Amino acid sequence: MANFYRDNADLRRRIESASWARILPALEKDFTDPHELAPKSIEEAVEQIEMVLDMIGALAAEEVAPHAAEVDRAGARLVDGRVVYPEPLQRAFRQLADAGLMGFTLPREFGGMNLPITAYTAAVEMISRADASMMTLFSLQGCGETIHRFAPRATRDRYLPRLCTGGITPCMALTEPNAGSALGAVSTRATQAPDGTWRLTGSKCFITNGGADVLLVLARSEEGKPGGDGLSLFVVEKGKGVEVGKLEEKLGIHGSATATINLTDAPGILLGRRGEGLYKVTLSLLHNVRLEVAAQAVGIAQAAQKAAVRYASEREQFGRSIDQFAPVRAMLFDSATEIEAARAIVVTTASVVDRKRGLERAGGGEELQRYERLADLLTPLSKYYACEMVNSVTSRAIQIHGGYGYSREYAVERHFRDGRITSIYEGTSEIQVGAMIDLLLRGGLPLLFEEPLRDAPEPPSASGALGILRANYEMVVEAAESAKKADRFAHQGWARQFADAVATILSGLVFLNDAQKDERSAILAKRQAREGRRQAETLLRVVREGDRTPFDETSFGPVVEPYR
Ligand SMILES: Cc1cc2nc3c(=O)[nH]c(=O)nc-3n(C[C@H](O)[C@H](O)[C@H](O)COP(=O)(O)OP(=O)(O)OC[C@H]3O[C@@H](n4cnc5c(N)ncnc54)[C@H](O)[C@@H]3O)c2cc1C
Repeated sequence: MANFYRDNADLRRRIESASWARILPALEKDFTDPHELAPKSIEEAVEQIEMVLDMIGALAAEEVAPHAAEVDRAGARLVDGRVVYPEPLQRAFRQLADAGLMGFTLPREFGGMNLPITAYTAAVEMISRADASMMTLFSLQGCGETIHRFAPRATRDRYLPRLCTGGITPCMALTEPNAGSALGAVSTRATQAPDGTWRLTGSKCFITNGGADVLLVLARSEEGKPGGDGLSLFVVEKGKGVEVGKLEEKLGIHGSATATINLTDAPGILLGRRGEGLYKVTLSLLHNVRLEVAAQAVGIAQAAQKAAVRYASEREQFGRSIDQFAPVRAMLFDSATEIEAARAIVVTTASVVDRKRGLERAGGGEELQRYERLADLLTPLSKYYACEMVNSVTSRAIQIHGGYGYSREYAVERHFRDGRITSIYEGTSEIQVGAMIDLLLRGGLPLLFEEPLRDAPEPPSASGALGILRANYEMVVEAAESAKKADRFAHQGWARQFADAVATILSGLVFLNDAQKDERSAILAKRQAREGRRQAETLLRVVREGDRTPFDETSFGPVVEPYR
């Protein structure tokens, strides 16, 4: 029987080597939860995680993946104002829900499984590998987390148990025609009646699962306060005053319903405090969702690379299979490295987030602040790196399939179309690196690297790699010092190069640790060290020279002006 967990040694390794001893006791209240399904020890908890992932691996491979092409062809539809998903997607969703998987990280008291984000990330990856559209329904679980964290008790009791059974589904309604990346410009109005109840009026666009039963809506609640400080997040229930306008026709994820929603005096319940809707509540929601999308990107890339490797071994030209040609091999090698680098970064981030959640429950302190900063830095890095990676990997997979890759006959064109959205929704790549660079220049580099670079092993199979990684880090630090003398416009212009260099050092360190156990990882560690050197040298040169060619008015203007 096919199984997307068992057939993926790298994913299994990431799960097996996660820092469970630090994550699980805090999550499981030191194993004192009397609930009958609660584990009583770390070993039992890890066993539970493995069991659940194994089950998802089987469901993804056997029940979801075989129908992905049909789901893509049929697409989600709007029938009499109601969103209708393709039948195989509805069926698979029911199976996932019946298996109890829709409350993955929520507490058991609401019917959830109380599992770590690290495990959830692996689950999202496997579902996405099977069908990227299915993932957009499965991974709306971040909405439940937000309700759990910020809603009044009655609201939690009303929605969370049904979200956990999949009896109802949520959506996240933030974007508006004039408020995309700049969510501070949201104009949907929330007005409070004298009896304290809220009513929302406005239009949202591009909303995944727009026909949802429970909507998390960002709206302007503070009269006279422009920007993000005037916004609050509300829970709105499907019904009177909530109408699905239309579904978008789009490049990929056809099985996912991307809707316009019109709100007219729709009743809402405030989440968190007034005026904290964007910078506190939505940001917390987006942090969850961004990690999910990063995992989605890894899953889609895994599917495309599997297809490319198979095709390259079967397709013959010039009397031999095309995987005998050096340029084809180089593409397959680069894709494998980038997928595993992205997975390493995503899982590292997830375990930092788990650790942070554990410390929050334990009451905070200095250690919590450290993990908050790490999560703030790593989440956009994961989203950026994984989502750019999937675009490269799926594009290469098409290249390796030649003309057949461009045809509908093979799945890689679907993976390419599906993967393309990841670097756009839930915050574009530019927004991710833009957020990251500020933190990186304000002490982020030592926070990320000082300890791991000091303590990293140097297995003989990867000799020399650690020295190169350390030198790469020094170059990035020097570039950051130099960048501080420039303005913020330049920081934003150089942000991608910083992000690439940082991601390569980070993944190189993970591979180096793995290299203690296997030779294959030593190859990857050395590759990242070399690739990172090229990136760090270029970055340092660009920043030292103050090279602003692509974005400075004196060069940008003359070059781009003729296209106006
Ligand atoms: C299929 C799909 C599903 C979606 N699902 C949801 C959902 O469930 N809920 C929801 O609320 N929204 C959803 N969205 C909306 C999505 O999050 C936005 O499209 C995205 O945030 C970008 O906003 P925009 O489209 O207005 O682009 P814009 O903000 O107009 O950006 C256009 C370009 O300008 C760049 N740019 C903008 N500002 C900056 C800046 N400050 N610095 C550098 N570059 C910048 C961007 O990176 C991008 O390249 C979805 C969109 C799609 C297509």
